[in-house]
Amino acid sequence: MQLIDGNAIAQQILAEVKAKVATLAPVVPHVVFVRVGEDPASVSYVSKKEKTAAEVGMKASLKLFPESVSKEELFACLDALNADASVHGILVQAPLPKHLPETEVFNRVSPDKDVDGFNTINIGRLVQELPNAIAACTPAGVIELLKRSGVKTAGKRAVVIGRSLIVGKPAAVLLLSKGTDATVTIAHSRTENLAEVVREADIIVAAIGKPKFVTADMVKPGAVVIDVGINRVPDATKKAGFRLVGDVDFEAVAPKCSFITPVPGGVGPMTVAMLMKNTLDAALRAGR
Ligand code: NDP
Repeated sequence: MQLIDGNAIAQQILAEVKAKVATLAPVVPHVVFVRVGEDPASVSYVSKKEKTAAEVGMKASLKLFPESVSKEELFACLDALNADASVHGILVQAPLPKHLPETEVFNRVSPDKDVDGFNTINIGRLVQELPNAIAACTPAGVIELLKRSGVKTAGKRAVVIGRSLIVGKPAAVLLLSKGTDATVTIAHSRTENLAEVVREADIIVAAIGKPKFVTADMVKPGAVVIDVGINRVPDATKKAGFRLVGDVDFEAVAPKCSFITPVPGGVGPMTVAMLMKNTLDAALRAGR
């Protein structure tokens, strides 16, 4: 069994992005983070993304709004950022308050600056396999982990568990796309005989949000397991009172696998790295 080191692969990608950014001077890729309210997880995610952008030599700006911001005010900000030629990437951090419907907000961002890849246009471009598609960062990270670990995907049976728009569906599209060429099944909460379906997989992508959901009996010997899940489970021995576990029962499943990602330290670090890559690519495509 080989452990896929997401931290190391993410560092490799960030080093490549940084080297490329340095060649673009005087252009500096510029990403703007838009945060509404003070959700502690959002505060921490955005600050991590800002810090990483600075580390790779990009400019990061922050637009902060109170929870009470109106849709009109938020959209006026997004329209101004869309029109600003010095801005290459825009990311509106979810979750948003109820009066700001996420799809509508994501679609207000110019598709060419939508570095999160949540815009309807980018999802369409992804399905059409167009070169200017911006893929959502987490599923794009899943594919990079596979490629950079030397996992053969062409012709292999991949089962994605989860059909969300931010992970499961785009992961399945990317696995299916030319160049990756897997034979893909998407499973979800209504899937019948789930264990049987998952047992057919050469590659399992678990994006469910349930701790230790994928058990050893669901995994074919030699399978590759990518665990996207990030779940907090109570742990009195930790200062925070919890620890992070994935959607896969790592201890039991790992001995059966050819490759597996740990949680933490697997897919998690890839998400921010791919955001930087998406921003760089947006700046390159903008040509300014
Ligand atoms: P969602 O809750 O949006 O989707 C979960 C999916 O799992 C749904 O499609 C759901 O099916 C399916 N599911 C739930 N229960 C079952 C079940 N019993 N059997 C089969 N399928 C089931 O979650 P996300 O996609 O947003 O996230 C998934 C996990 O990935 C979470 O742990 C999240 O924290 C993590 N995550 C990690 C990221 C990272 O950076 N590493 C980034 C984003 C998410 P149905 O559609 O039928 O309800």
